[in-house]
Amino acid sequence: MHPVRTLLALSLLAAAPAFATTGLDAGDIAAAEALRERAMRGSEAWNVVESLTTEVGPRLAGTPADAKAVQWAKAKMQAMGFDKVYLEPVTFPVWLRQHERAEVLAPYPQPLVVTALGGSVGTGGAPIEAEIVAFASLDALKAAPEGSLEGKIAVITNRMVRFKDGRGYGPAVGARSNGAVEAARKGAIAILIRSIGTSSDRFAHTGTMRYVADVPRIPAAALSNPDADLIEHMVARGKPVRLRLDIGAETVADYTSHNVIGEIRGRDLPDEVVTIGGHLDSWDLGTGAIDDGAGIGITFAAGALIGQLERAPRRTVRVIAYANEEQGLYGGKAYAEARAAAGEIGAHQLGAESDFGAGRVYALRAGVDPAAWPVIEQIGQVLAPLGIATERSGGGPGPDVGPIVAKGAPWAQLAQDGIDYFDYHHTANDTLDKIDPRALDQQVAAYAVLAYLAAESDVDFGTLPVKADD
Ligand SMILES: [Zn+2]
Repeated sequence: MHPVRTLLALSLLAAAPAFATTGLDAGDIAAAEALRERAMRGSEAWNVVESLTTEVGPRLAGTPADAKAVQWAKAKMQAMGFDKVYLEPVTFPVWLRQHERAEVLAPYPQPLVVTALGGSVGTGGAPIEAEIVAFASLDALKAAPEGSLEGKIAVITNRMVRFKDGRGYGPAVGARSNGAVEAARKGAIAILIRSIGTSSDRFAHTGTMRYVADVPRIPAAALSNPDADLIEHMVARGKPVRLRLDIGAETVADYTSHNVIGEIRGRDLPDEVVTIGGHLDSWDLGTGAIDDGAGIGITFAAGALIGQLERAPRRTVRVIAYANEEQGLYGGKAYAEARAAAGEIGAHQLGAESDFGAGRVYALRAGVDPAAWPVIEQIGQVLAPLGIATERSGGGPGPDVGPIVAKGAPWAQLAQDGIDYFDYHHTANDTLDKIDPRALDQQVAAYAVLAYLAAESDVDFGTLPVKADD
């Protein structure tokens, strides 16, 4: 941190209105506007996502495709002209999906579309067959009598609600995260949930779940939305519903992957950094185009545009392709731990990430020292022609920036329209055709402006309250 600069900024702020304290002059604004227009004429983002989804494809953390993605990212950043490209280790347990099958045995036999949840155990090498007990929500399951699910397959059918900002995900996702533990506590031998997604297409939606010590580990899978409807229709007829479930999955020895980092070196203050990025891993079902190939393409392209400027910004712009976000934010946590160990948290001026698909950005939000807010306003003015409003409150840093923010680093958010994000997210339907290249260009413009001006400014974005380790 730079207390002297903060004090100076505060005293100037008191003395003069407008943006006299920000360190951004008309030339800086003009340079940012030119970057914005350059991106809007057509950026490299779509080509980067096309390359990642075509040449690597699905890249489940810890698999050979993960290693391939790391090499791909390093080579891509080098080819795009980053000054320095390097890897940092990230270690985590590896979960592998082998197979998954489900069918109704009675009263109306027919196949079901399911997918195992990330982290789930298998059914023990053979299918299991049992009657189901269906619940409308995780809370309803929790309220079931002790032992009432003995030998049964629990089913939770709560439905995620669609919103532009994705706020329907949080209230629904508990069924996925905690359903297996709660069902096992009541004696269930497996759990099926309605997919935590908004699509009515017949694609099941995966994602992480967890176990706790002292509760039996039972297999957990998601039904596609139409298959969850089908189960509800059968249950409504009042006859016992009996399923067969066959899941092969296992967690194997730890693996070390890497965060891949590319930098545009700052011309005056190279040790101070502004970060943007996305996560390099994906689930194994689709090609990880919107989650999070888009974030990789957007931030690689934005960083590369800044790298093409005749004069680099004052501070270093660091683009981070985070390892294994999907199964527990391992890359973001390792990155934050490494900065803390090196005493570099204070060097982190502003962090942002793109991990909400490929929809257009509509809002700029930030968590910074109030003295730095005028710079955020200035950045917002350059973003306004892109249809982006500056919002003084709300939002958050995102999953991979979260761990360093918990250690005190300031953040910015470019909020994206995620109205259809959960139609594709974590499904086999997350593929390149869902991405509009023009929407990607708008996001590249936004990230380039944000990163460039935050790096060009010499205002101190401050230190946030440090949160206790979880
Ligand atoms: Zn993601």
